[in-house]
Amino acid sequence: MPEHSANQLPSYLNPDNPGPWGNYLEQVDRVAPYLGNLSQWIGTLKRPKRVLIVDIPVELDDGTVAHFEGYRVQHSMVLGPGKGGVRYHPDVNLSEVMALSAWMSVKTAAVNVPFGGAKGGIRLDPRNYSPRELERITRRYINEISTIIGPNTDIPAPDVNTSGQTMAWMMDAYAIKNGVTAPGVVTGKPISLGGSLGRVEATGRGVFVVGSAAMKDAGIDMQDARIAVQGFGNVGGTAARLFAESGARVVAVYDHTGVIHDKQGLDTVALAEHVRNTGGVKGFNNADTLSPQEFWALKTDVLIPAALENQITEDNAGSIRTRIVVEGANGPTTPAADDILTDNGINIVPDVLANAGGVSVSYFEWVQNTTSFFWSEEEVNSRLEVMMKNAYADISATARQHQVSLRTATFIAACSRILEAQDARGLFP
Ligand code: GLU
Repeated sequence: MPEHSANQLPSYLNPDNPGPWGNYLEQVDRVAPYLGNLSQWIGTLKRPKRVLIVDIPVELDDGTVAHFEGYRVQHSMVLGPGKGGVRYHPDVNLSEVMALSAWMSVKTAAVNVPFGGAKGGIRLDPRNYSPRELERITRRYINEISTIIGPNTDIPAPDVNTSGQTMAWMMDAYAIKNGVTAPGVVTGKPISLGGSLGRVEATGRGVFVVGSAAMKDAGIDMQDARIAVQGFGNVGGTAARLFAESGARVVAVYDHTGVIHDKQGLDTVALAEHVRNTGGVKGFNNADTLSPQEFWALKTDVLIPAALENQITEDNAGSIRTRIVVEGANGPTTPAADDILTDNGINIVPDVLANAGGVSVSYFEWVQNTTSFFWSEEEVNSRLEVMMKNAYADISATARQHQVSLRTATFIAACSRILEAQDARGLFP
């Protein structure tokens, strides 16, 4: 393969194990035949625009100095500033952050938000550090990446194990470093700092909106529909509550503490309280417990993986007995598992569409920051609903037109938008 081939992996990734980036590349390859002349630009999607790896030296509470590995990857900025969350997790690595940044590009384009795609992460287990230590780590991370972020350049947001408080520290660190208070440098901030009403629930609400639309298309009645959720954090917890409030039964929840099950439906409000108090679903109201294998094999109408990537793989995909998978997490299904589910007649609403509610309301937050004019929660929620329903309707029409899965249709819509802009912009210098 020539050195300049678009198909060559960046030399800084392990060719024997490209990780989540390999999954992303496979998804892009599946869409190439549908891009017509724009496919000449596909190489720009197969490489991130910019990768920054930083050392984060921080003094711990005991006076010793620890070093953390931090990342910010800007995959594409063709349609607008880079956009995407920052996660704190012990498994954070370059391939993962690259894939997550690329999925952000696809996601923002899929819902027609004028942003590119980026992602960040710090490789650490936040449970091992005090709030003061996490604050110092966060501030030093922002200091290290401050040359490439900004309200018109690249805008971080919450992701796994980061919150409004993390965003407040990020905004403050950026403000002090640059001598400007620029609320639009991060989204998902507390309301007191210019955050948007409805942002915390937005990802879960979006999962509910597109999940309901997919159920309607499949002729599944919401009343008493059986829902299973993996992950009961911000995304899974909110989506579960909204489905339950609409009459569905949340029959099983699986998190890092175990699986709980009740075929009559779990009380999602009481469960959220239990998780807040105890850190997990285990021990909730004496609900039955299941093994992870039993969870995946449960007969349900909708299965929502809302935890981490690579949860539905060749190992468990064949056992899954649901009608619709709605991906709350980023990258929960491997391409091989995707094929198995599809062959078994299971419809997948892909992450890049299903969980785009978060970045949609991040966009609303950024617009509110830019105009210094704030919206009511009703306005935010109703605009979110319109945006998600329109995106779902457009993408399902594309899927029908080309006889492809919703994932490929989302990639067709999003990649066409990005590459059309790339084609119009051309190369410089
Ligand atoms: N971390 C979220 C995601 O994966 C939100 C990103 C954002 O709001 O920028 O979509």
